[in-house]
Amino acid sequence: LSPVPSDIEISRAQSPKAVDVLAKEIGLLTDEIEIYGQTKAKVRLSLLERLKDQPDGKYVLVAGITPTPLGEGKSTVTIGLVQALTAHLKINSFACLRQPSQGPTFGVKGGAAGGGYAQVIPMEEFNLHLTGDIHAITAANNLLAAAIDARILHENTQSDKALYNRLVPVVKGVRGFSSIQLARLRRLGINKTDPETLTEEEISRFVRLDIDPSTITWQRVVDTNDRFLRKITIGQAQFDIAVASEIMAILALTTSLEDMKERLGKIVVANDKKGEPVTAEDLGVTGALAVLMKDAIKPTLMQTLEGTPVFVHAGPFANIAHGNSSILADKIALKLVGEKGFVVTEAGFGADIGMEKFFNIKCRASGLVPSVVVLVATVRALKMHGGGPSVSAGAPLKKEYTEENLQLVADGCCNLQKQIQIAQLFGVPVVVALNVFKTDSPAEVDLVCKIAKQSGAFDAVPCNHWSDGGRGAVKLAQAVEKAANQKSSFKYLYSLELPIAEKIKTIAQKVYGAQDIELSPAAQSQIDRYTRQGFGKLPICMAKTHLSLSHQPEKKGVPTGFILPISDVRASIGAGFIYPLVGTMSTMPGLPTRPCFYDIDLDPVTEEVKGLF
Ligand code: ADP
Repeated sequence: LSPVPSDIEISRAQSPKAVDVLAKEIGLLTDEIEIYGQTKAKVRLSLLERLKDQPDGKYVLVAGITPTPLGEGKSTVTIGLVQALTAHLKINSFACLRQPSQGPTFGVKGGAAGGGYAQVIPMEEFNLHLTGDIHAITAANNLLAAAIDARILHENTQSDKALYNRLVPVVKGVRGFSSIQLARLRRLGINKTDPETLTEEEISRFVRLDIDPSTITWQRVVDTNDRFLRKITIGQAQFDIAVASEIMAILALTTSLEDMKERLGKIVVANDKKGEPVTAEDLGVTGALAVLMKDAIKPTLMQTLEGTPVFVHAGPFANIAHGNSSILADKIALKLVGEKGFVVTEAGFGADIGMEKFFNIKCRASGLVPSVVVLVATVRALKMHGGGPSVSAGAPLKKEYTEENLQLVADGCCNLQKQIQIAQLFGVPVVVALNVFKTDSPAEVDLVCKIAKQSGAFDAVPCNHWSDGGRGAVKLAQAVEKAANQKSSFKYLYSLELPIAEKIKTIAQKVYGAQDIELSPAAQSQIDRYTRQGFGKLPICMAKTHLSLSHQPEKKGVPTGFILPISDVRASIGAGFIYPLVGTMSTMPGLPTRPCFYDIDLDPVTEEVKGLF
C-alpha cells in the first residue's frame, strides 16, 4: 500500500496462522511444542537430540553500520531476507531475533518486531511479555541478589552452630547434606558426607562464606528504563536493566539445561574476606535459579507477516550486554532448515559492537561457523556520518536527509567502509543491504552500492522489503545465497591466551580504531584480581556506546587517534566473559522527556493495543 501504513496497522491487518499449524509445517512434532495462546509456542530442547544427525543449514549474521537516531532497520532486513528466501525463492529459512526489552519499548525506540511489510506478528505479543523469559530472568537475578544479602545478615548475627543447624536441618530425624552442600564440602577439602562428623573448625569454614560486602558485584535488575535506580542510597544498592543481567547472557550462550545449571552455579557475586570468589553455588541457590529459568531456556516460535518461521530468544542491548539471540535458537533453527536452508540471526547495533561479540563470544561458545555477514546501511544514516546535521526527536527531518546530497553520502561511506573492514577481520564474506527509504535518490543508492563493492563487500544491493515485503528483498536473498557458497575463512580476532588488557587493546585498536587504551586504577586492580583468580582466559564483552566507533557518542564517521578509557572491569564468570566498561557507560538507561509510552493505550472494549510502533 502507498503510503505504507503504520507498523501496528500492518501487523493487525494480517491474521497469523495458528502456531501449531506453523510448527507442523516446519517439521516439529506435537510433543515438541508448548503452546502459549494462539500465535506463540515454546520449542522443547529434545528436538536437538532427534535431529542431531541432520546437517546444519547456512548461518547468516545481520549487523549494521554505526547507528544514528535516523534508524538503520536491521530487524526489518533480517525479516525481509527470510521472507524473500522462504516465500519467494522457496528456500527454507528461519529468522532468530532477540526479545525486546520493555526499557526501549516504552522509552526512545518503541518496539523491535521489524517494520513496514517486514515484521514479526502479532507485534504486540512480540514486543510486550512474549512468553515471560525476561520476567523469569528478573526473578532469578533478584533471588540471587536477595540470597547474598540474607546470607551476610545471617552470618553476622548467628553463631557457627546455629547457622549449621539451620543450613543442614534434621529431616525426619536425620541430618543430611544436599548435593550442593556436598559439592561445597569437596571444594573446601572436607571429604565427609555425614553431618554429625564435622569438627568445629570444619563447621565454621563450611557455614561462613565471609562475603566482603565492598566486593559485591551482583546488582538487582528491572526491565524498565528507570534512572532513579541507577544510584539509590539505601544499602548503596544499584540496579541494572534486566536484559543486562548475567543471567540473560547465560540464557543466550547456554547449550543445554545441564550447561545452564552449571553456568548459573558459576556466577561470581563477590569476594570473601580472603579475596577468593564467592559463587551462586556457594549460596546454595543454583537449583532454584535453574527452576526459575526452566521454561525461559526454550526458544519461542512466532512468524513473519508472510508466515515464515521466527525464533525469539534472549535479549538486546549489545552495548551493555553481548546482545545476541541465543545459541539454542540458532542451533535448533539450523537443524530445522536442513543443509540447503538459511538461518538469519541478528547482532545488535553496529558491526563493531554486536558482530564483534557474536564472533568472539557467541561463536566460540557454540562452535558454529557463520557463512555470510549482511551489513545494513541507510542513505540517511550515512549522511549523518558524513557530517549531516543532528536530528531532534519529533522535529521534521532537515533537507539534507530528504533531498539528494551525494557529497554527504560519499563522505559518510567511511563508516560503512570501516564496518566492512571489521567484518573482514573475521574472514567472512560481506553483503551490504542498503535499506531504501522513499526519500533516497537512485543516484544516492547507486553511490553507496558502488563504494561498498570498492571497499571489499562481496556484493551490495538496495532492499525494498519495508515497502514491498519479501518481494523487495529478493535481490538481497540471491546475493546472500551466492556469498554463502564462497569459502568462509572464519577466524577469531584474538587468542584467549592473551592477558586481559591485551585482549581489550586488540579490540580497541583493530575494531574501534583507537590509538591505545587507558585503564583506570579500578580497572587495573580488577584485571589483576580476575587474573589472580584464574579468570584471565575468558573472551571480552565490551560495554561501549553504540553511537560511535569511539567512546564519544557525538563522534560520527570514523574517529581516529583517540585513547579508549576503561573505567571499570567486571566479570561474568557464569556467562563466560570479562566485561570492561568504557568511559561513562551506564547499565541502567533512562527515559527521555517524551517517552514512547505517551502514545501507548489500550481500548478496554476491544482489548486493542494502540500506539506501539
Ligand atoms: P533496527 O533493527 O536497526 O533498530 P528496525 O528494523 O527495528 O531497526 O527499524 C526501526 C524502525 O524504522 C521501524 O519502526 C521501521 O518500521 C522503520 N523503518 C525501517 N526501515 C524503513 C524504511 N526503509 N522506510 C521507512 N521506515 C523504515
